[in-house]
Amino acid sequence: MKNIIFLAPPAAGKGTISSALSEKYGYIHVSTGNLLRNVKEKNLASRISSLLKTGNLLPNEIIYEILDNYIKEIKDKPFILDGFPRSIEQVKHLNELINDLKLPECVVIYLDIDYEKAMTRALGRMICPQCGRNYNKFIETTKPKVAYKCDICKIDLVTRSDDTEETFKIRYNEYLKETYKVVEYYKEKGLLYTIKSVDDLQSMIDKIIKIVEV
Ligand SMILES: [Zn+2]
Repeated sequence: MKNIIFLAPPAAGKGTISSALSEKYGYIHVSTGNLLRNVKEKNLASRISSLLKTGNLLPNEIIYEILDNYIKEIKDKPFILDGFPRSIEQVKHLNELINDLKLPECVVIYLDIDYEKAMTRALGRMICPQCGRNYNKFIETTKPKVAYKCDICKIDLVTRSDDTEETFKIRYNEYLKETYKVVEYYKEKGLLYTIKSVDDLQSMIDKIIKIVEV
């Protein structure tokens, strides 16, 4: 299994697909968003949370330190990078990290979705505070079996504090401005595979598995 760099506009379904890939195929889901939200050190954690709440991007030094340490720990397993790289500067950092750690080649998967659909999804997104599983009340295939309850833990689901219409717009525009260049970069390198975001989770998983199987 090749490592995956997962690129997509916010709310395209990266989280759901990544969870499925880690459950069924042993991938480690490296979500920079989750890594940053779970920082234990108090001062850093409160700085990060206030930046995230306003929809701003975090300074690279913070992201690099947390991400690099984590990748070093898990580098012998296949992993999915979700939420990174978001700029050409971050691409360069990642290339260096891959070199330094002698990591195997990555494939880049771009999940394509239009704005309206992404917005609807962002507003329907819910997460289990206990197991981290993702749900969406607007998508048949990822709806919880009982409304607002985790299928596994049977406890109340929560929405993320940054899933509001306003924050979504900011994040989507940030994405257009910065991440689009990353998509173009990998396209030019011939490393990019585009997959259309659809509600049928399994069909997207099947396509990705074909790409990452060596
Ligand atoms: Zn749960």
